[in-house]
Amino acid sequence: MNTDAPIPINGFLADLGLIGSNARLGRRILEQAGITRPGKIGFSAVKLERALAAIDKRLARACERPDCRAILSTDHGRRLVTVPRVACEVCGGSNNAGAVRRMVAACTDAGVHRLLVVGGTPALWEELRRLLAGDPIELRTVDGTRASNERTALQHCAWADLVVVWAPTPLDHRVSNLYAADRCVADRIEVHRRGIEAFATAVAAHLETAPGQRLGAIARA
Ligand SMILES: [Zn+2]
Repeated sequence: MNTDAPIPINGFLADLGLIGSNARLGRRILEQAGITRPGKIGFSAVKLERALAAIDKRLARACERPDCRAILSTDHGRRLVTVPRVACEVCGGSNNAGAVRRMVAACTDAGVHRLLVVGGTPALWEELRRLLAGDPIELRTVDGTRASNERTALQHCAWADLVVVWAPTPLDHRVSNLYAADRCVADRIEVHRRGIEAFATAVAAHLETAPGQRLGAIARA
């Protein structure tokens, strides 16, 4: 595949479940973010992450399920749009499952078995756990909206092979500071997009390309 080939805008938006009037809305967001201009049909592949972030910042993509809508409707400042289940940020069907398979493979290759998730919501954790059932990955989660204490945070960090800070989800700075790089010895990444697919893809990409201090984490185990 030629990675320099432009990305067709309609296909990009359709992959995110944005079709019809939602595709027009998505296109406006891309134009406002300077990713494309009126009349253009594609954008450069180097802008892909920026394009995803621009859409993610403005739109909450939920399927018809009341649970998914309830979770995302409280999402501050984002407009709720209805998308096919496969593109739902919460339950995301096969996209989520595929991304989680990739994450599990990357974790296994890197010797990472203990993931500490800082931030996120109970519904997202539950879905992650469901997708990880039977895999050799242990998950611990930290509620970003509840006061945590330093001692617990240090124990969490000592336990984890990888700390994943899920930044756009409800996450108080008093909580995230307890897991900051200068305190937490485990390898860590920040995920800047919402949804299971984005989470799993970010973890996989990190372990596949830039696995930080994970060797230290394994040596301690
Ligand atoms: Zn859903």
